[in-house]
Amino acid sequence: MNTMVRQITILGSTGSIGESTLDVIARHPDRFQVIALTAHNNVEKMLAQCQRFKPRYAVMLDAVSAEQLALKIAASGLSTEILSGVESLEKVAALPEVDAVMAAIVGAAGIRPTFAAAQAGKLVLLANKETLVMAGRIFMDLVKQHHAVLLPIDSEHNAIYQSLPVDFNGDFQRSGISKILLTASGGPFRRTPLSALENVTPEQACAHPNWDMGKKISVDSATMMNKGLEVIEAHWLFNAPAEKIQVVIHPQSVIHSMVAYIDGSIIAQLGNPDMRTPIAHAMGYPERIGSGVADLDIFKVAHLDFEEPNFDRFVCLRLAYDALKAGKNMPTILNAANEVAVESFLNRQMKFTDIPAMIEYALQNTSHKSIITLDDVLETDRETREVAKEWLQKSHSQPQRRLNYSSL
Ligand code: NAD
Ligand code: MG
Repeated sequence: MNTMVRQITILGSTGSIGESTLDVIARHPDRFQVIALTAHNNVEKMLAQCQRFKPRYAVMLDAVSAEQLALKIAASGLSTEILSGVESLEKVAALPEVDAVMAAIVGAAGIRPTFAAAQAGKLVLLANKETLVMAGRIFMDLVKQHHAVLLPIDSEHNAIYQSLPVDFNGDFQRSGISKILLTASGGPFRRTPLSALENVTPEQACAHPNWDMGKKISVDSATMMNKGLEVIEAHWLFNAPAEKIQVVIHPQSVIHSMVAYIDGSIIAQLGNPDMRTPIAHAMGYPERIGSGVADLDIFKVAHLDFEEPNFDRFVCLRLAYDALKAGKNMPTILNAANEVAVESFLNRQMKFTDIPAMIEYALQNTSHKSIITLDDVLETDRETREVAKEWLQKSHSQPQRRLNYSSL
C-alpha cells in the first residue's frame, strides 16, 4: 500500500462529512491525492480547500458560484479547473484517474453523481444514504454489474460491516447471523414530553447531543427518520430483511451497531462518536490508518444504556419500516417527502410534528409504481415533491388539520 496513492474525488467536500474526509486525508499526504472537490455554492470554503489540497478539478453545482470561484482561483495562481452543473459532478465521479469517490452530497441531489461513480467501477465510499433509500435495488445491481466496491461511511453501517464475517455474501443463514442491532442515540427529544414536540424550533432540533452534522441529517436524527432511512440502507447493503433489523436506542452513541449470531454472540464496534473513524476505516481499507480520533476512554463512559424505540414518539421510524415492507416506490416517496418536510420545517413553514404528517400524506397520495430504472426513481421523486407541497398549501388553508397531527 505504501507504493500506491489512492486518488480521490469528494462529492460534497464543504459539508460535515466532506470536511472530516479532508481532515483524514491531510494526516496521510503519502496515501491520498485529491483529484476533485465538489460543493453546492459555498465559494469561500471551496477556495480555501482548493488552496490547501490543490485538486485538479473543483465543481460548484451553481453556475454563478463557479464563475466567482474561477476568478478567485485565477487570482490566487492555482491551476484547478472550475466546472459547474450536475453533469460535471458526474464527470468528476467517473474520471479514469480516480480510484475512490466519497459520496457525501446530502439528499436526493447525490444520486446521479453516486450512480456515475458506481457505473465507472470506482471504490464508492457511501455517506449519501439517500441513494440507497431512493434506488436501493438499482444501485446495488449497478455496483455488481460494474465491479464497483461499496464501503459504508454511515457509522452504524460501517460498524455492521466491521462486525460481519469477512466472507459475508449477504446470506444470513450461511453466516449464522440472527439479527442486526442498529443503534440510535434517540436524538435531542428522547425524553421531551410529547405535548411539547409541536413547539420545537429548528435550532433545538439541530442541536444533537452526540454528533456534529449537517442540518438535514440533524433534523432527521431528531425525528428518527435518520434511523428509518438507515434501516432501509442496511436492508440493501447487507441483504437484511426488515424483521431482522432491530433498532436499539443507545443514548451514549458509543456502540455504533452490532451483529447478533445464532450461537448467542454479539459482535459490536465501539468508539467515540466522530465520523473520522468510519471515514478512515473505509478510506484506508483494507489497512487501518490513523483518523485523529481520540481513544475511547471506557472508564469515563462507564455505563451503556439500551432502550426499545417508541413508535408513537418516533412516527417517522414506523413510516420507514412500513415503506420498506411495502416496497415498490414507497421508500423513494418516503425520502422525497422527508426532504420537503425537513426543508419546510427549517424554513419555519411548518411545525416539527408536521414532518410525519406531511410524509404520511405523500405516501398515501403519490402514485404507487414499480421502480425499474433511474428515471422511474427521479419521476417518483418529482411527483412526491409536488404532493408534499400540496399538503403544505392545504394545511395553511385549514389550520385545524395541523392541530390534529400535532397531538401525535
Ligand atoms: P452537509 O449539509 O454538511 O453537506 C452537504 C454537502 O453537499 C455540502 O458540500 C454541499 O455543498 C453539498 N450539496 C448540498 N446540496 C447539493 C446539491 N443540490 N448538489 C450538489 N451538492 C450539494 O451534509 P452532511 O452532514 O455532510 O451529510 C452528507 C451525507 O452524509 C448525507 O447523505 C448524510 O445523510 C450522510 N451522513 C452524514 C453524517 C454526518 O455525521 N454528518 C453521518 C452519516 C451519514
Ligand atoms: Mg448514521
